[in-house]
Amino acid sequence: DQLGPTVCVGEILVEIVATTVGDGFREAQPLIGPFASGAPAIFVSQCGRLGGRAAMIGAVGTDDFGRVNLERLKGDGVDISAISVDPDYPTGSAFVRYRKDGSRDFVYNIATSAAARFGWSDDVSNLIGRAGHLHVMGSALSVPSAREVIDKAVDIVKARGGTLSVDPNIRKELKLDDDTERRFSRLVAAADLLLPSGEELGRAAGVEGEANAIRRLFEIGVKEIVLKRGANGATYYGCDGERIDAPAFVVTEVDPTGAGDCFGGAYLTCRRLGMPVEDALTYAAAAGARNVTVIGPMEGAGTKEQLDAFIAATERRS
Ligand code: ATP
Ligand code: MG
Repeated sequence: DQLGPTVCVGEILVEIVATTVGDGFREAQPLIGPFASGAPAIFVSQCGRLGGRAAMIGAVGTDDFGRVNLERLKGDGVDISAISVDPDYPTGSAFVRYRKDGSRDFVYNIATSAAARFGWSDDVSNLIGRAGHLHVMGSALSVPSAREVIDKAVDIVKARGGTLSVDPNIRKELKLDDDTERRFSRLVAAADLLLPSGEELGRAAGVEGEANAIRRLFEIGVKEIVLKRGANGATYYGCDGERIDAPAFVVTEVDPTGAGDCFGGAYLTCRRLGMPVEDALTYAAAAGARNVTVIGPMEGAGTKEQLDAFIAATERRS
């Protein structure tokens, strides 16, 4: 990561988790939180904990929920100079409760929170001017103020020889307006590393079937793809035709939220620190698996030492 830090753009939230399984929030119930959250923030936290240089662009409110996030990221070694503190809007939040079948009910306050109110600023400009890598989630494109930051940042980082990773993070059914769809396609095509999970692969490629989707993505310019398959592991595809499967570690899943972001943050950081693909995949699988063993979206993100200990102590599926 000689060129500069890994920079993540997007929503910063707290998450408050129901401690019982059931349907939604229509009666008083035990909750635990606030936990620092937001997919891009989870990703950047894992980068920082693993010892990569990392920085975050986003916004929080002037409240304790904001402080939870700022202190957490700072403690992980993340540069928070480009996180703005909104004087008027509260920090974004998500209440989550798991249902019996593993699906989730949410109560969100994101679109009308500080999380959606950041834009290009001097601090953002300073950070992007020294960034070595940019990580973007497709979901951030639905936030109007984030679009300008992403557009400018992609151009600047690429022009100075930096790289881009993209987590499509868009449900298959989600219809984007034409303009957002075009931005999404452009972002995917510019990705040096694409980190889809499950059906996001077909959504990003615009064609069905794993082999077809992979072929199409390399045709439009993607350099490297790591497909995430939850407890079934992950697969690396290189544009030279190489394929490496990364079996998952065997753990008891307590809270699946954040696995993909810890996985991605660990993979990218290891690669940027010069590790070969196979070793980076091992750390990534460990980071994802470790994170699902703890309640809270980024509470299980591991340091290098913690992940080494986890890898030594945990079996992998074959
Ligand atoms: P999310 O969007 O919920 O953060 P994702 O869908 O982007 O997650 P997943 O495929 O769920 O990503 O998880 C990423 C990686 O983390 C997997 O490829 C796997 O290596 C690891 N992982 C996730 N869940 C488990 C699990 N239950 N057991 C072991 N490893 C897991
Ligand atoms: Mg995901």
